[in-house]
Amino acid sequence: MTDTKINLLIVDDEEQFLESISKSLQVRDFNVIAVNRGEKAIEAARKNPIDIALVDLKMPGIDGEETLKALKAEHKWMEVIILTGHGTIDSAVECTKMGAYSYLQKPCSLDELMESLKEAYKKKVMNKKKIADKKMNEMLKISLYGSPREIMRKLKEIDKG
Ligand SMILES: [Mg+2]
Repeated sequence: MTDTKINLLIVDDEEQFLESISKSLQVRDFNVIAVNRGEKAIEAARKNPIDIALVDLKMPGIDGEETLKALKAEHKWMEVIILTGHGTIDSAVECTKMGAYSYLQKPCSLDELMESLKEAYKKKVMNKKKIADKKMNEMLKISLYGSPREIMRKLKEIDKG
Protein backbone atom coordinates (compact mmCIF):
# COMPACT_ATOMS: atom_id res chain seq x y z
CA MET A 1 0.00 0.00 0.00
CA THR A 2 1.22 3.51 -0.78
CA ASP A 3 0.24 6.89 0.62
CA THR A 4 -0.72 8.38 -2.71
CA LYS A 5 -3.62 6.07 -3.48
CA ILE A 6 -6.91 5.63 -1.65
CA ASN A 7 -6.90 2.40 0.33
CA LEU A 8 -10.05 0.45 -0.17
CA LEU A 9 -11.29 -2.63 1.62
CA ILE A 10 -13.98 -4.64 -0.16
CA VAL A 11 -15.85 -7.46 1.55
CA ASP A 12 -18.40 -9.56 -0.31
CA ASP A 13 -19.17 -13.28 -0.22
CA GLU A 14 -19.95 -13.38 -3.96
CA GLU A 15 -16.52 -14.23 -5.34
CA GLN A 16 -17.26 -13.22 -8.93
CA PHE A 17 -18.63 -9.83 -7.96
CA LEU A 18 -15.70 -9.32 -5.60
CA GLU A 19 -13.19 -10.08 -8.31
CA SER A 20 -14.77 -7.90 -10.99
CA ILE A 21 -15.33 -4.90 -8.73
CA SER A 22 -11.78 -5.17 -7.37
CA LYS A 23 -10.29 -5.21 -10.86
CA SER A 24 -12.39 -2.25 -11.99
CA LEU A 25 -11.25 -0.19 -9.02
CA GLN A 26 -7.61 -1.25 -9.18
CA VAL A 27 -7.33 0.07 -12.73
CA ARG A 28 -8.87 3.30 -11.48
CA ASP A 29 -5.94 3.73 -9.12
CA PHE A 30 -7.28 2.41 -5.84
CA ASN A 31 -5.30 0.13 -3.56
CA VAL A 32 -7.74 -2.71 -3.09
CA ILE A 33 -7.87 -5.39 -0.43
CA ALA A 34 -10.64 -7.86 -1.26
CA VAL A 35 -11.96 -10.41 1.23
CA ASN A 36 -15.02 -12.65 1.28
CA ARG A 37 -15.91 -12.63 4.99
CA GLY A 38 -16.65 -10.00 7.64
CA GLU A 39 -14.13 -11.64 9.98
CA LYS A 40 -11.40 -11.22 7.37
CA ALA A 41 -12.38 -7.61 6.76
CA ILE A 42 -12.02 -6.75 10.45
CA GLU A 43 -8.64 -8.48 10.52
CA ALA A 44 -7.43 -6.77 7.32
CA ALA A 45 -8.42 -3.36 8.68
CA ARG A 46 -6.26 -3.96 11.75
CA LYS A 47 -3.22 -4.59 9.56
CA ASN A 48 -3.73 -1.96 6.86
CA PRO A 49 -4.57 1.75 6.90
CA ILE A 50 -7.96 1.61 5.19
CA ASP A 51 -9.66 4.81 4.00
CA ILE A 52 -12.97 3.38 2.84
CA ALA A 53 -14.65 -0.01 3.24
CA LEU A 54 -17.25 -1.37 0.82
CA VAL A 55 -19.25 -3.88 2.82
CA ASP A 56 -21.79 -6.38 1.53
CA LEU A 57 -24.82 -6.60 3.80
CA LYS A 58 -25.66 -10.28 3.41
CA MET A 59 -22.81 -12.58 4.24
CA PRO A 60 -22.46 -15.83 6.13
CA GLY A 61 -20.76 -15.48 9.51
CA ILE A 62 -20.40 -11.87 10.62
CA ASP A 63 -22.82 -9.99 8.38
CA GLY A 64 -22.48 -6.48 6.96
CA GLU A 65 -24.14 -4.80 9.90
CA GLU A 66 -21.80 -6.42 12.43
CA THR A 67 -18.80 -5.74 10.21
CA LEU A 68 -19.81 -2.09 9.98
CA LYS A 69 -20.09 -1.83 13.78
CA ALA A 70 -16.69 -3.41 14.34
CA LEU A 71 -14.95 -1.30 11.70
CA LYS A 72 -16.42 1.98 12.94
CA ALA A 73 -15.61 1.12 16.56
CA GLU A 74 -11.98 0.37 15.80
CA HIS A 75 -11.28 2.90 13.07
CA LYS A 76 -12.70 6.32 13.77
CA TRP A 77 -11.84 7.85 10.41
CA MET A 78 -12.81 5.01 8.13
CA GLU A 79 -15.89 5.57 5.98
CA VAL A 80 -18.08 2.58 5.21
CA ILE A 81 -20.35 2.13 2.21
CA ILE A 82 -22.87 -0.71 2.41
CA LEU A 83 -23.58 -2.87 -0.65
CA THR A 84 -27.06 -4.25 -0.67
CA GLY A 85 -29.01 -6.65 -2.83
CA HIS A 86 -32.74 -6.77 -3.45
CA GLY A 87 -35.04 -6.72 -0.46
CA THR A 88 -32.51 -5.44 2.02
CA ILE A 89 -32.87 -1.70 1.53
CA ASP A 90 -34.41 -1.22 4.98
CA SER A 91 -31.42 -2.80 6.66
CA ALA A 92 -29.11 -0.72 4.51
CA VAL A 93 -30.87 2.45 5.65
CA GLU A 94 -30.46 1.25 9.25
CA CYS A 95 -26.75 0.92 8.59
CA THR A 96 -26.47 4.58 7.65
CA LYS A 97 -28.00 5.38 11.04
CA MET A 98 -25.25 3.29 12.61
CA GLY A 99 -22.55 5.30 10.90
CA ALA A 100 -22.29 3.99 7.36
CA TYR A 101 -21.59 6.81 4.93
CA SER A 102 -24.13 5.53 2.41
CA TYR A 103 -25.41 2.42 0.72
CA LEU A 104 -25.47 1.22 -2.87
CA GLN A 105 -27.83 -1.23 -4.40
CA LYS A 106 -26.30 -4.11 -6.34
CA PRO A 107 -25.72 -4.24 -9.21
CA CYS A 108 -24.51 -0.62 -9.21
CA SER A 109 -22.86 1.19 -12.06
CA LEU A 110 -19.19 1.97 -11.85
CA ASP A 111 -19.97 5.68 -12.18
CA GLU A 112 -22.29 5.51 -9.22
CA LEU A 113 -19.70 3.64 -7.21
CA MET A 114 -16.90 6.06 -8.14
CA GLU A 115 -19.09 9.01 -7.13
CA SER A 116 -19.85 7.43 -3.74
CA LEU A 117 -16.20 6.61 -3.13
CA LYS A 118 -15.15 10.13 -4.00
CA GLU A 119 -17.73 11.66 -1.64
CA ALA A 120 -16.93 9.24 1.19
CA TYR A 121 -13.24 9.99 0.91
CA LYS A 122 -13.93 13.72 0.86
CA LYS A 123 -15.93 13.33 4.07
CA LYS A 124 -13.12 11.42 5.73
CA VAL A 125 -10.56 14.09 4.85
CA MET A 126 -12.87 16.96 5.93
CA ASN A 127 -13.62 15.33 9.30
CA LYS A 128 -9.96 14.82 10.00
CA LYS A 129 -9.18 18.37 9.00
CA LYS A 130 -11.94 19.76 11.23
CA ILE A 131 -10.48 18.02 14.27
CA ALA A 132 -6.97 19.15 13.35
CA ASP A 133 -8.17 22.79 13.06
CA LYS A 134 -10.00 22.55 16.37
CA LYS A 135 -6.89 21.16 18.04
CA MET A 136 -4.76 23.93 16.62
CA ASN A 137 -7.17 26.63 17.84
CA GLU A 138 -7.34 25.11 21.31
CA MET A 139 -3.57 24.85 21.39
CA LEU A 140 -3.11 28.48 20.44
CA LYS A 141 -5.54 29.51 23.18
CA ILE A 142 -4.13 27.43 26.00
CA SER A 143 -0.51 27.97 25.05
CA LEU A 144 -1.00 31.60 26.13
CA TYR A 145 -1.60 30.71 29.75
CA GLY A 146 -1.48 26.94 30.32
CA SER A 147 1.28 24.85 31.84
CA PRO A 148 2.70 22.06 29.64
CA ARG A 149 0.75 19.58 31.72
CA GLU A 150 -2.53 21.43 31.17
CA ILE A 151 -1.80 21.65 27.48
CA MET A 152 -1.21 17.89 27.31
CA ARG A 153 -4.39 17.16 29.23
CA LYS A 154 -6.43 19.45 26.99
CA LEU A 155 -4.96 17.87 23.89
CA LYS A 156 -5.85 14.44 25.18
CA GLU A 157 -9.44 15.60 25.68
CA ILE A 158 -9.62 16.99 22.16
CA ASP A 159 -8.09 13.80 20.80
CA LYS A 160 -10.83 11.70 22.42
CA GLY A 161 -13.62 13.97 21.22
MG1 LIG B 1 -23.72 -11.38 -0.03
